[in-house]
Amino acid sequence: MDATQYPVSLTVNAAGQYCLGGLSLVDLAEQYGTPLYIMDEATLSRNCRFYTEALAKHYPNSQVVFAGKANLNLGLLNVLSKENLGVDVVSGGELYTALKSTMKPETIVFHGNNKSHEELTMALQHSIRIVLDNSAELERLIHIAKSLGKKAFVMLRLKPEIEAHTHDYIKTGHIDSKFGIDKYDLNKVITRILEEPACIQLLGLHSHIGSQIFDIHPFEDLADIMTDHMLAIKNTFGIDIPELNLGGGIGIQYTTQDDPPSIPVYIERMTTRLKACLQKKGLKEPKLFLEPGRSIVATAGVTLYSVGALKDIPGIKTYIFVDGGMADNPRPMLYQSQYTFALANKAALNPEKTYTIAGKYCESGDVLAKDIPLPQAEVGDTLVVFGTGAYNYTMSSHYNRSAKPAMILVQNQQSRVLVQRETFDDLLRYDMA
Ligand code: PLP
Repeated sequence: MDATQYPVSLTVNAAGQYCLGGLSLVDLAEQYGTPLYIMDEATLSRNCRFYTEALAKHYPNSQVVFAGKANLNLGLLNVLSKENLGVDVVSGGELYTALKSTMKPETIVFHGNNKSHEELTMALQHSIRIVLDNSAELERLIHIAKSLGKKAFVMLRLKPEIEAHTHDYIKTGHIDSKFGIDKYDLNKVITRILEEPACIQLLGLHSHIGSQIFDIHPFEDLADIMTDHMLAIKNTFGIDIPELNLGGGIGIQYTTQDDPPSIPVYIERMTTRLKACLQKKGLKEPKLFLEPGRSIVATAGVTLYSVGALKDIPGIKTYIFVDGGMADNPRPMLYQSQYTFALANKAALNPEKTYTIAGKYCESGDVLAKDIPLPQAEVGDTLVVFGTGAYNYTMSSHYNRSAKPAMILVQNQQSRVLVQRETFDDLLRYDMA
């Protein structure tokens, strides 16, 4: 394992407070308010370099595109583009944000199983790589490209024939995923693309097998399956596929129960298999795209909450009530996701009892975690949750008309706002009285 659930710059100061980027989390909570998302730039850079340095060594003809669905805003994308990452977007809103960031358009990849006319138009106008999901989309794209006098550059998303979960995976002949082109339709789709050379060009193949995956074998098998498709295309159409995108999905450590693989080891093993498959099948090396999301941002992020109350139910449990919950992190409710917790102002103290951490929203199920060992908690403590950099802000909601928290970036004793805290007036902005 390369990394734990803790950010790289995590330290404890003389006052027994956790610090990130050299700044006390207690001070940051006071300065910016809570709940507060914090991203640690040192961890972001390290996670990006796990990928870029291993690829430079084992497969230099490559591009890492960050899966923006994990966490997406201008400042964050600007940090990742400095690390030479591109971005994968799945909606007009994500594409618009990426185009306004310092990401180079040629490193943006546009996904989605039902892209609208407006979304496809925006992608075509900026010559963005489009990952084609189905035949209806192909016809829509050809039509829009013709009317704009633009050429579409496409990758074909294929059903992976592998279903991967955290602890196991299965290879299936045909899966019922809503994403991707069925292998039996592939030749039909390619034939149609080749009929319209003036307005559409096939760049590559894409597949994504799942998320929070701890086993490297399914990625090696995916290299095998995708190179089989490349060979079949070469034999049928005489085309060397120039690009191959193997998606994202490497897992991270949320708690000590999780044992994700090392990213450099994953890159080495997956590219070794890919190169062997290409050689065996007599194929040219395509440019390799990878789309990690969680493994770039999750461990770089923490969330701070203020403890507002404790409720002891004698002999049963003690609740800690925090000033956020399911609106800023729906993952525990949606997926029973586990996290690691600490009291930021009591870093030097040992755990004394276990607590149930409950949010402030009007749902009994708004519980972030159960049976969490912590030092004696008190009203006014600052609770820190580790590993919240992925799929937290992007999955947050305004439930109970809650204003979304701010997100800040820390590095070298400096902090700056990536996303401002919403105000009550922001909540009214689109209401019509
Ligand atoms: N690429 C695609 C097409 C995805 O659907 C996803 C997430 O579901 C990702 C990349 C990123 O996956 P992860 O965050 O697990 O790396």
